[in-house]
Amino acid sequence: MDYDVVVVGARCAGASTALLLARQGRRVLLVDKATFPSDTMSSLYIHQPGVQRLAQWGVLDAVVASGCPPLDTISHEIDGLRLTSAAPTMDGVPAAYAPRRYILDDLLVRAAVSAGAEFVDRAQVRELVWDDDRVTGVRMRVGESTTTVSAGLVIGADGMRSKVAELVGAPVVRSHPLASCVYYTFWPGLRTGFGFHERVGRWIARIPTHDDLTIVAAYLPQDEFPVARRDPEAAYMSAVESTAPQLHEQLMSTERADRWRGTGDQQNFFRKAHGPGWALVGDAAHHLDTISARGITNALIQADLIADSLSGAEVADKAAVDEATAHFAKAMSAVLEEPYMSTLELASLQPTKARLRMLHGISGSPELTSRYFALVAGVIKMREFMTADVVDVL
Ligand SMILES: Cc1cc2nc3c(=O)[nH]c(=O)nc-3n(C[C@H](O)[C@H](O)[C@H](O)COP(=O)(O)OP(=O)(O)OC[C@H]3O[C@@H](n4cnc5c(N)ncnc54)[C@H](O)[C@@H]3O)c2cc1C
Repeated sequence: MDYDVVVVGARCAGASTALLLARQGRRVLLVDKATFPSDTMSSLYIHQPGVQRLAQWGVLDAVVASGCPPLDTISHEIDGLRLTSAAPTMDGVPAAYAPRRYILDDLLVRAAVSAGAEFVDRAQVRELVWDDDRVTGVRMRVGESTTTVSAGLVIGADGMRSKVAELVGAPVVRSHPLASCVYYTFWPGLRTGFGFHERVGRWIARIPTHDDLTIVAAYLPQDEFPVARRDPEAAYMSAVESTAPQLHEQLMSTERADRWRGTGDQQNFFRKAHGPGWALVGDAAHHLDTISARGITNALIQADLIADSLSGAEVADKAAVDEATAHFAKAMSAVLEEPYMSTLELASLQPTKARLRMLHGISGSPELTSRYFALVAGVIKMREFMTADVVDVL
């Protein structure tokens, strides 16, 4: 075996998986077809459970040192309400962050390399190597040449349209229809802080990031995508104006700092995430509408779960590896079930009467409002939120 593990895809899922497996003393090869450091489409927001993992892995200090502003307040405007609170906190996590991806992904890759992983960018995996029904390596294009490497485990961290998933034939085991579409861009000098504006058919997010820039993202229903893609600026500006008029005024007096970015391909699925000699992590395993900004946090949680599941398994012991990846896949779908369901509800862009009643009910209580934001961040679960004092105000 050339390596214990080959990880295909080196962004938040792949680089953090490589980092944790290298720290277990494994021989890890991390490859990506992109050039690093580089950007990818994302509105960048990392919820507290994701930030907590960055802190535990020793990467958060570098994120902070890169000049990424802490997002330590949160607000949500809906149905005439303005809910505001300090950002939820967790152990060692004073705030949320939204680092540029060319910074975050690069920091994770560097941490993986420091832990002993080998990293090759501009390396595109095109085929897998098989021994009967077991994946035993990858064949990849690096520059002008094709290289084959063998490994005890191949992990596909290669995104929603995963090549590894395609090559192993990993089926989608659960899915829901496309619900929203999104356009976003970066604005300089806004003083809005972090938060959302919501009404039927619209969701606007404000997310401060590096260099005094704020991402403003506008989510619209999927059936408006054909019109929005013909004129993103008109669709975006009209969505912001009708949902967040004061924010719209600020945008009208500011020059945007980047081009329009957007997508209607907001898939909602879980794939089979393990098989003989292979596993999937990150968007390759599970993708959800980006309206809840959960993808990076989910990727970091999955990296933690797969590393935990594999700890103690010798890669030469095929049965132990397969048992560990099966355990990972089961744990992953259990842990990510609740955010998946709440994301589907949000992405319908139809706030339910029950949710509006709950938001009105908690709005008079700073304590319940702050607990609601902890629920949104994934710091607490629905059953911890739904205590008698919340039920009383419904
Ligand atoms: C508009 C938009 C807004 C978003 N906003 C947020 C947000 O605010 N917060 C949040 O948490 N998430 C957000 N997301 C989602 C988030 O960006 C993803 O969930 C996250 O990037 C998934 O990380 P990943 O490492 O699994 O996959 P990816 O980031 O997709 O990385 C996969 C990598 O695999 C590489 N690769 C692919 N195929 C191969 C191959 N054959 N060989 C080698 N390498 C390969 C690619 O080059 C790529 O670098 C957003 C997404 C979109 C589209």
